[in-house]
Amino acid sequence: MKRITSDKVIYSFKVEMKPVERVLPGEIFEVETNDCFYGQIKREDQLITEVDFSKINPATGPIYVEGAQPGDILKVEILKIELPERGVIVTVPGEGILGNMVKSAKTNIVKIKKDFCYFNDIKIPTNPMIGVIGVAPSRKDGEYPTGSPWKHGGNMDTKDITNGSTLYFQVNQDGALLALGDCHAVMGDGEVCVAGCEINSKVILKVDLIKNKKIKWPIVETENSWMIIASGKNLEEASKEAVENAVEYLMKGLNLSWDDAYMLSSMVLDLKVSQVVDPNKTVRVSIPKKILTVDEVFEKL
Ligand code: CA
Ligand code: ZN
Repeated sequence: MKRITSDKVIYSFKVEMKPVERVLPGEIFEVETNDCFYGQIKREDQLITEVDFSKINPATGPIYVEGAQPGDILKVEILKIELPERGVIVTVPGEGILGNMVKSAKTNIVKIKKDFCYFNDIKIPTNPMIGVIGVAPSRKDGEYPTGSPWKHGGNMDTKDITNGSTLYFQVNQDGALLALGDCHAVMGDGEVCVAGCEINSKVILKVDLIKNKKIKWPIVETENSWMIIASGKNLEEASKEAVENAVEYLMKGLNLSWDDAYMLSSMVLDLKVSQVVDPNKTVRVSIPKKILTVDEVFEKL
C-alpha cells in the first residue's frame, strides 16, 4: 500500500499543484496527516498565539488520480481514520462564535484511549473525522487557502466526513489532485470555539472515478443518507446554495416539477450546520436514501 507522508503538505488548493504521489482508480492507500497546528502544540503551556501561523492547516498531498479529468466525479471512500493517543483543543481571543468573550488563549491536551477522548475528567465518545479534504479548484474559482471551504472541498469541518463515509468531488483539473489534513478525534456541529479535538492521523482511503458527471458542491454519503456540503459568506447564503442544489437533485432524480421538489424538500431534508468559524461558513443538507439515493441521482446527471 502506498503511503503519502506528512512532510508533503500544501497550504492552499490551487489550479496548478505538483503531485507528490500517483494512485489508480480502485487503489487503496494511506495518507499521514498533521494536526491543524502542524504539531507545534504539544503541551498545555504552549499557546496558539505563540505558533507560526504560516504553518496552520497543512493538507497532505496533492495526490494525482490516474485518468481523472475535468468533468468527472472523484469518489473517495474513507476506510479508516486512525486515532493517536492525544489531541489538542485551544481557544483563541477573538475567534469562535463567542470570540469576544475569550480573554486569553488556552490549550488543553486531550487524552485519547479506546474510542474515548478525556477532556479533563469528562469522557467523550470519539467520532474521528477529516476537517480539510479537497481537490484542485476550477480556474474560475482560483486559489483557496486550506483554511477555507468552497466547491473544491477544503476546510469543510463536517463531522459526517468520518469512518465509512464516501465523498464525491467535482474533478476540475487533470488527476483531481486530492489533499487532506486537519483530522479531529471528535467535533460537534458548528465547531463553535474554532477547534475540534485536533489530531494527527493516518487515513486509509480508496479512490474511484465516475466519468462525465457534474456536481456543484461536494457530497458525503453515510449509511442512511447523503449530504450536499455547501459553503458561503454566512449561514444564510450557504443554506440557500445547499437547498437549491438539493431541490435540483430531487427534481432530476424523481422526475418532479420544481415546486413539488421544493415541497418534498421541506418534508424530508435536514439542514444542518457544519461549521460557523472558518472564513466561509458551511452547512449540509441531508437527503434520506429511502427517498432517493446518490446513485439514482448520478444516473440522471
Ligand atoms: Ca478545520
Ligand atoms: Zn481542525
